[in-house]
Amino acid sequence: MYTDPMSANARENSGGEPVARPVKTAAEILATPVQFLPGGGPNRVPLLAKLDLRTAKDVIFNFPRDYQDLTDVRPIAEFEEGKLTSVVATVEDIDSRVSMNGRSVVGVLFRQGREYLRAIWFNMPYMQNHFTRGQTVLLSGQPKYMGGRWEMAHPRVQFVEPEEQESARGRLLPVYSLTEGLNQEQLRRITRGALDLCVESLDEVFPAAYLEAHKLWPIRRALPQVHFADDRASLEQARRRFIYQELFVLQLALAIKRHRTHDEGHAPPLEATARIDARITRLLPFELTAGQRRVIDEIAADMATTKPMNRLLQGDVGSGKTAVAVYAMLVAVAHGHQAVLMAPTEVLARQHFATVSQLLSGSQVRIALVTGSVPAAERAESERKIAAGEIDLIVGTQAIVRGELEFAKLGLAVIDEQHKFGVRQRALLRQAGGDPHYLVMTATPIPRTMAMTVFGDLDVSTLREQPPNRQPVHTYLVSPDQREKWWEFFRRKLSEGRQGYVITPLVEESAEVEAMSVRQAYEALANGELEAFKLGLVHGRMSAEEKHAAMEAFRSGETQVLVATSVVEVGVDVPNATLMTIEDAERFGLAQLHQLRGRIRRGKYPGYCGVGAEPKSDESNARLDALVKSNDGFELAEIDFQLRGPGDMLGTRQHGLPPLLIADLKRDAAILEEARRDAKEFVAADPGLALPEHKLLRRMVLARYGESLDLGDVG
Ligand code: ADP
Ligand code: MG
Repeated sequence: MYTDPMSANARENSGGEPVARPVKTAAEILATPVQFLPGGGPNRVPLLAKLDLRTAKDVIFNFPRDYQDLTDVRPIAEFEEGKLTSVVATVEDIDSRVSMNGRSVVGVLFRQGREYLRAIWFNMPYMQNHFTRGQTVLLSGQPKYMGGRWEMAHPRVQFVEPEEQESARGRLLPVYSLTEGLNQEQLRRITRGALDLCVESLDEVFPAAYLEAHKLWPIRRALPQVHFADDRASLEQARRRFIYQELFVLQLALAIKRHRTHDEGHAPPLEATARIDARITRLLPFELTAGQRRVIDEIAADMATTKPMNRLLQGDVGSGKTAVAVYAMLVAVAHGHQAVLMAPTEVLARQHFATVSQLLSGSQVRIALVTGSVPAAERAESERKIAAGEIDLIVGTQAIVRGELEFAKLGLAVIDEQHKFGVRQRALLRQAGGDPHYLVMTATPIPRTMAMTVFGDLDVSTLREQPPNRQPVHTYLVSPDQREKWWEFFRRKLSEGRQGYVITPLVEESAEVEAMSVRQAYEALANGELEAFKLGLVHGRMSAEEKHAAMEAFRSGETQVLVATSVVEVGVDVPNATLMTIEDAERFGLAQLHQLRGRIRRGKYPGYCGVGAEPKSDESNARLDALVKSNDGFELAEIDFQLRGPGDMLGTRQHGLPPLLIADLKRDAAILEEARRDAKEFVAADPGLALPEHKLLRRMVLARYGESLDLGDVG
């Protein structure tokens, strides 16, 4: 057993002798290698390493992924078939035999009043010596009713003193993630040993008054209970402490980041005066919708101050985000600043460039396209002009703009359709002498809990309605026996002059295989269902020029159908394209399906989307059902969020942040709100976490998020 190092120290010193063995510090105790833990042992070390468990500290912070509840103690008369139950009973008889196939079978008959229960153990002959008649035990297992009697195979056994019979209760056992060669019992034992060794060495990161005020258990109380809880209530309290802590630390990091970039950053104030507003709205070929007007006001209010804007604009596909972006960019240009619009792909960048060029054809605004496929000489010339301030508005791809372009006077950066554009990726556009304002746009609405975490330091504007006279998209599930009818319909609409997309199945193996499968699909259609029509093809393995050419041919109507993979081009704008077939739809996420379908909701004709699927699970059924019933991207995003497990689209990791270990953004939404509010207050009062009582929290924030959020040396 572990002895307190402090008392050992005191003993040795009291003898006046020099300290023979140095006393271990708390940090050293926590760093104890797993092989020195009870149950650790050298041959377990590599197994534990696979689980990232190397030290005692790793072990105690390896939170259970679930619990096995043995607290349901009930009389035999109330057993239910197969339901995990605990029961207190007395050993009545023990027998042991060898079955016909050579297995040893130990049977123990237990009695409880007038009821009996038989427990059996296979291939564990020593179990017969485990019990003596008249002994009282607590058994936990799954009862089965066999041959007129309840039976439990391999129950857990806990001996009970006779006087404890009434109060005996089962436990809540931790269930950990395992690796082959290591079982729950072994890891439980190691964890218990690590806890015994370390609990007294744990430092409390929260000041005592804070714990009290927020009803949080101290760490030395909470940690053992997270693993081996006395009861449900203690488990909840213990878990709450760590969930809160994890979310609070994340929110602190985000609040610090925000404080630095927003409150302390310095951007040019770019006010949208009435005169500027009039000039811009005159350029637009349509009236802005009330929704566009509202988000423009929010953006304009941000841009008018010297605090850099950090705003996320979310709006369903086709809601008209580009016009909003163009407006904001022209405000910057009107003030003599540059603005840049970054798209995730070459095709989208070109599309934006075409839109913007057309809008600004009658104006003095100097614009440039900067992408990978622009010829080198031309690009070098653009880069020179941008650095010299001879270009006002730049459209490009993110890959190109990232860190390579030098701006003379960047006032606004707009990032389009970048769902994975988390807090981390933003500070890419640095320039001497001030920060630009940022506007990030996405068509995939972000569930609120995500907006508060991975997008935690962004303000959110939402574009809810579609521009007027938008036609709906009708969506149909097309089962294999309805395919012929669907293609018939597709052909009829093509003959009426409409155009359409065919989205081929998602292939995960490689871009190579995907290109092959889309080519096959193209061949099959060109020689089959769509024989009579002109088809185009777009996939990820084509060069930028080839893609551009295919897109242009489709846009101009030269090709009637575009066969494409899903990876290409969210947000393509071809108003005459009103038909879409999505093959193998169950392989796509709901948000992605809705995005795809958004491409045929652009013009004055209604859209028709045929979703080819044979849903195999309840979940994919529910998803496709939702897709057919709802045309509202926000509603669908919520449904998707509810249907999917946590850690999927929610993955903090996807956004460049370390994964959450115990908190679940979906389940723990209420604690998240609380932690967020508290963290904001905390940082407002002590922006650098500089107070001595916040030292440990500060260290924890830096250790966890310092790098990913580029916090540098806080304070
Ligand atoms: P998204 O939000 O998906 O990026 P876009 O900005 O591409 O949407 O807009 C989709 C289409 O709607 C474009 O063809 C655009 O010209 C048109 N549009 C945008 N705003 C309006 C408006 N206020 N009135 C009419 N049409 C509009
Ligand atoms: Mg768009």
